[in-house]
Amino acid sequence: MVKKLFWPLILLSLLLSFAIACFAPVSTNAAARASAVISPASEAWQAALPADPMAATEAYMQRISPINKARSDAYFEGGYWLLLANTLLGIGACWIILKSGILIRIRIKAEKITRFKFLHNLSISTGFVFFLTLLSFPLTAYQSFFREHQYGLSNLSFTAWLTEQAISTTISVLSMGFFLSLIYLLIQKMPRLWWALGAVLSIGLLSVMMLLGPVYIDPLFNQYQPLSDQKIKEPILSIARANGIPADNVYQFDASKQSNRISANVSGIFGSAAIRLNDNLLHRCSPSEIEAVMGHEIGHYVLNHVYKLLLNFGLILLFGFIFIHKILTFSVKRWGQKHNIRHHSDPVSLPFFMAFLSAYFFLMTPVQNTIIRTAETEADAFGINAARQADGMAEANLKLTEYRKSDPGYLEELFFFDHPSPKKRIYAAMRWKAEHLK
Ligand SMILES: [Zn+2]
Repeated sequence: MVKKLFWPLILLSLLLSFAIACFAPVSTNAAARASAVISPASEAWQAALPADPMAATEAYMQRISPINKARSDAYFEGGYWLLLANTLLGIGACWIILKSGILIRIRIKAEKITRFKFLHNLSISTGFVFFLTLLSFPLTAYQSFFREHQYGLSNLSFTAWLTEQAISTTISVLSMGFFLSLIYLLIQKMPRLWWALGAVLSIGLLSVMMLLGPVYIDPLFNQYQPLSDQKIKEPILSIARANGIPADNVYQFDASKQSNRISANVSGIFGSAAIRLNDNLLHRCSPSEIEAVMGHEIGHYVLNHVYKLLLNFGLILLFGFIFIHKILTFSVKRWGQKHNIRHHSDPVSLPFFMAFLSAYFFLMTPVQNTIIRTAETEADAFGINAARQADGMAEANLKLTEYRKSDPGYLEELFFFDHPSPKKRIYAAMRWKAEHLK
């Protein structure tokens, strides 16, 4: 049944994606809408804030209008359901690919063309990721295009979005296909220990991606150029120098073509460092807000968060691979013959592998979020001491409430937030300010 319906299903998925994207409520005045979310305030307003950190935080929170709060809460809470929807759709797509027998057909073709095991793995893995991406594409179109426009958070036209999707999909299909074929090579060569080496290999490949990403991948989406405004650049470089960062330039990039979100990063591993900020931060924020944000980003670099996160992610993956090792062997023994899977080291078992991995990562969401959120809290503490811009930090966080729920419940934050909530971050800034005013 699924065998016959596979190609019509792929076609239907593409048509549906196209229809979803076509019906998106595209508007071009997202910038105007974003700036209307928060009522502006002057330096005099900041100076007159109450000394009590909680009262000052409340004064900041009052500047978010009820309509806008409701809108950004709805946007953020919808993300919880999207997390579930993505996992379920991914598992469903794995089931369709398994039932369709398409991977068996790729295996037969690959074995006719070459006798190299790795090339068999590579063609099956790449084919698998390709079909998985196509079957999930309607949700991708809804999530990354329709919904972003619905909430006035995207500046991309349909063609620009499609072009970006084509580039990012090509990169992810090729890199994931390559990664999975290496994992299966490990399962074939070291069937008892593949999970340990697999975790090490994953960290290694992620490090390479982090090293090459800023140089080769980021410029495919945005233009980077040295920041010319000395009044902005000099204070940032001063914070960097004071904290031992080996950088002598700051770069800006044109993220406003995608959205109005403010963002920056200090990237680089193995001794390299590049300080980069987007044009939204430059155009929508005051110098004190820019310094606060850059202090935070410099904090990530100085506190070696990249290495710590890689290590933590490696551990999560290690436990995930141990779980998959057990359950994949069992599943292939139980259902393998029915689906023409020779052994659990046969990459045709990928639908099982990926379905279990997605379920595992879904369950690990609160753990991953808590690891990242902890690093973000550390970077906040570092940043405010480095930049000494408490109100700048509060103002920048207020802007983040355009798309982040400002005041979630305790468990909600624990499960779904990969950054502390804006209210908590504003409170931290006001607490710092109160202690430094004494
Ligand atoms: Zn951060």
